[in-house]
Amino acid sequence: MGKLSRDKRDVFYRLAKESGYRARSAYKLLQIDSRFHLLGPSTDDNDDGTSRTDGSDGWRPPRVHRAVDLCAAPGGWSQVLAQCMERVCEISHRPSIVAVDLWPIEPLDGVKFIRGDITSIDTAKSIIQHFEGERAELVVCDGAPDVTNRHSFDEYIQSQLLLAAINIATHVICEGGTFVAKIFRGRDVGLIYTQLELLFGQVTCAKPTASRNASIESFVVCQRFGHGKLPFEKCLDLELEGSWDELCGGVGSLRLVPGEPVRPTTVPFVSCPDLEGVQLPEGVDFLDSDKSYPVQEAKAPLAPPIQPPYEQGIAKAKEARAARHKG
Ligand code: SAM
Repeated sequence: MGKLSRDKRDVFYRLAKESGYRARSAYKLLQIDSRFHLLGPSTDDNDDGTSRTDGSDGWRPPRVHRAVDLCAAPGGWSQVLAQCMERVCEISHRPSIVAVDLWPIEPLDGVKFIRGDITSIDTAKSIIQHFEGERAELVVCDGAPDVTNRHSFDEYIQSQLLLAAINIATHVICEGGTFVAKIFRGRDVGLIYTQLELLFGQVTCAKPTASRNASIESFVVCQRFGHGKLPFEKCLDLELEGSWDELCGGVGSLRLVPGEPVRPTTVPFVSCPDLEGVQLPEGVDFLDSDKSYPVQEAKAPLAPPIQPPYEQGIAKAKEARAARHKG
């Protein structure tokens, strides 16, 4: 949860605090879900609770019993996953969620936490081992680097997180499963879509209204794993180390078949609207993530960060001040 006064003036920050979510980003996943019905039955579902029919060919997104939340701290998306999956899972089939981050998170009921770097092979292996050969129906990744505002560099780091997430996803998602990940819509995004379409039958770019217009952040919603341009068996055949490179040469080299350059693709872009039935905070008549509202009385954070990286910065600044005073 942000500490800047800009964040405190943000309506989704206030909503998150009032609703018990650890991060305002919880609303991004809720809005994506309300548009795509990834996490549970929608109003137009069958009476038996099976997911609604989504494709003209009668295809249905699988019911989510197992999910992976990559780059999960402080745990807002994991809270949403746990709540929604608890609602739709049968008693005989309890939800299983694995959350991963560089930084520790406060424990959450029903969520197994793994501390690690998603770009490292050991973390990837621990996630895969957790499911003991079973596959997850959903993998989400809200990973973001510490933004430097050097846009090309930030986009590059973001795309490395995305590639690491895809790499892990290809090893844990079941056929027909879903992958949702943050993406920066920079210059080369069309090439990433091209590669995602190798793996998934349906790729959409979504912008929840909880994500500020000013931000280049969006989310790729990739559905129907194993129904893309590569056959499912080929997707499963990959070795973990370097598998993305084996698959398509990676974003760096941008080649699908030797000698043939990858052509950037465009995918549908959709906005994910506000959630119905959300109780608006006092003095708010419209959920506008770009607007600043007056700061309200400060409430204690719901899950204060454990060992936040900024602590080191504060300690160093203190040391530097003390050294200046001495000198
Ligand atoms: N979805 C989270 C929530 O709702 O609470 C918020 C995620 S926050 C925007 C981005 C997270 O990405 C940070 O907690 C950061 O530590 C994590 N992250 C960045 N790089 C990572 C990496 N290489 N491996 C694991 N986590 C990473």
